[in-house]
Amino acid sequence: MKIGFIGLGNMGAPMARNLVAAGHAVTGFDLAAPMPEGVAKADSALAAADGAEVVITMLPNGGILRNVAADILPAMSEGALLVDCSTVDVESARAVAEDAARRGIEVVDAPVSGGIGGAAAGTLTFMAGGSEAAFARAEPLFDIMGQKAVHCGAAGAGQSAKICNNMILGVTMIATCEAFALADKLGLDRQKMFDVVSTSSGSSWSMNTYCPAPGVGPTSPSDNDYTPGFAAELMLKDLGLSQQAAEASNADTPMGALAHDLYRRFVEDEDGRGRDFSAMLPRFETRGRG
Ligand code: NAD
Repeated sequence: MKIGFIGLGNMGAPMARNLVAAGHAVTGFDLAAPMPEGVAKADSALAAADGAEVVITMLPNGGILRNVAADILPAMSEGALLVDCSTVDVESARAVAEDAARRGIEVVDAPVSGGIGGAAAGTLTFMAGGSEAAFARAEPLFDIMGQKAVHCGAAGAGQSAKICNNMILGVTMIATCEAFALADKLGLDRQKMFDVVSTSSGSSWSMNTYCPAPGVGPTSPSDNDYTPGFAAELMLKDLGLSQQAAEASNADTPMGALAHDLYRRFVEDEDGRGRDFSAMLPRFETRGRG
């Protein structure tokens, strides 16, 4: 298949590499990043999209996605498919899909979970929004770049699922970290705390799979001095998107709002930038109530 790929950064590059390895002809464009081996370099987003059956975007945010879409949609042939794998606001995903539909182009919003490791290994999870037919067309590509794809509903549903999931993740990571810090102050051994909670009703992915306490549970970024993994600033971005969506839809999300505020302070004022999002534990560890 002839594929245009726009945005070949940390995530996009390994995803494009897997498409090339599966035998697809990939033409790429990025403002700054080098082309991965096997990807033909285009001089503009428009050139990468020109004549492609499928265009995949993997960009930083909704504003950039809207700009790139405005550039490439006029160059895409009627019947072509745009698959946006970036994490963006629900409104931008829907706006791009509407604009594309007017030109006879289908869009799937398909943000991913699994991080850079999952992108390299081809084990991402895709959560997708768009028509049944568009999802069915994108599915063989999801199978190459990932291990699971869930069709969540109409345009924007993939982004909605992503930000709801990451709102839960941000909140449970904070809860797990503050509970460890409390356990410390109560003189409870961290391994015992893990042994109990990971098999009790307080268990979660944050505790069981990505334990924020070094040396406890399976290997995680905490065992590597909190080198990401999933950086705190990316969690801040996703929590910001969930708050934006909550405001737009009049949803009451007090825990999400507090998690957003804590990660904002962590990233902006407390040296959290560049650290894994589980580094909330050393943050809580050093604090008292005051
Ligand atoms: P990145 O910053 O490494 O890559 C983004 C790339 O887009 C950069 O190479 C940049 O030069 C390029 N770009 C920006 N504007 C452009 C334009 N107008 N035209 C062409 N290229 C342009 O970011 P990333 O880590 O690859 O993340 C990409 C998306 O995936 C984000 O939306 C992010 O939230 C999401 N995501 C990231 C992770 C992760 O662990 N890194 C996990 C899940 C989802």
